[in-house]
Amino acid sequence: MDTKEVLYELRMRKGLSQSELADKVFVTRQAVSRWEKGETVPNTETLKLLSNLFNVSINTLLGSPKKLICQCCGMPLEDEILGRDKDGSLNENYCKWCYADGTYTYSNMDDLIEVCVKNMVNDNVSEGQVRAYLELLLPTLDYWKKYDELSDDGQFEEFKEQLIKEINDLHIEGMPKLEKLNALVGQFVNLPYRLPSGADVKFLNDGTTYLGNQLESEFGGDRCFGVLANMDFILISTYEKDGKNPELVLYKKR
Ligand SMILES: [Zn+2]
Repeated sequence: MDTKEVLYELRMRKGLSQSELADKVFVTRQAVSRWEKGETVPNTETLKLLSNLFNVSINTLLGSPKKLICQCCGMPLEDEILGRDKDGSLNENYCKWCYADGTYTYSNMDDLIEVCVKNMVNDNVSEGQVRAYLELLLPTLDYWKKYDELSDDGQFEEFKEQLIKEINDLHIEGMPKLEKLNALVGQFVNLPYRLPSGADVKFLNDGTTYLGNQLESEFGGDRCFGVLANMDFILISTYEKDGKNPELVLYKKR
């Protein structure tokens, strides 16, 4: 659903006229009418007011462009299970079990894994499988990444900045300036590159976490740039949607 349909439906469900809704979020009736015709979209401040009024996330108001997952436990997020900030507004980053009234519930990853394992084990998935999955997933989520960064006096941040500088200094043609590196688990970014001999080769370890990012090509088109790096190397490639037809641009030892 588009924003216009979402807003119309939420307004109907609450039994409000366009003017009544307009009054509640401090806009004109014409503004509401324009949203519902799809001519404009509410601004950020108004989206916050609408989110509070209708008790749905801003992501939902925008037609759910993002698949939200809890950045602490990895659970897919629906509006019903979103955590809340101190002022009662919905927080789209966390579920209500990990973040309640502005407070984080977990400070230890092992504790969280114990809780999740109990809830996730079933006839099809063993405890060992759940544990292995969580041990790979959780370190890639924002909350735990921040946690790690905060606990090492910023050394990790410094290393990332250094890597970003080195990568930008390579001046790869068509690749925009790299601003940010994320932690990525090898398993999800280990693309097979075709050698001239026709053999496929992978350069990464599935179980290792790397720093990387994906960037749109400055030339447009459907290929984008993938950057991956760690202490030892920098790898730059291009590929199509979902990592199809990857080509190695550069593999450099540091
Ligand atoms: Zn959670």
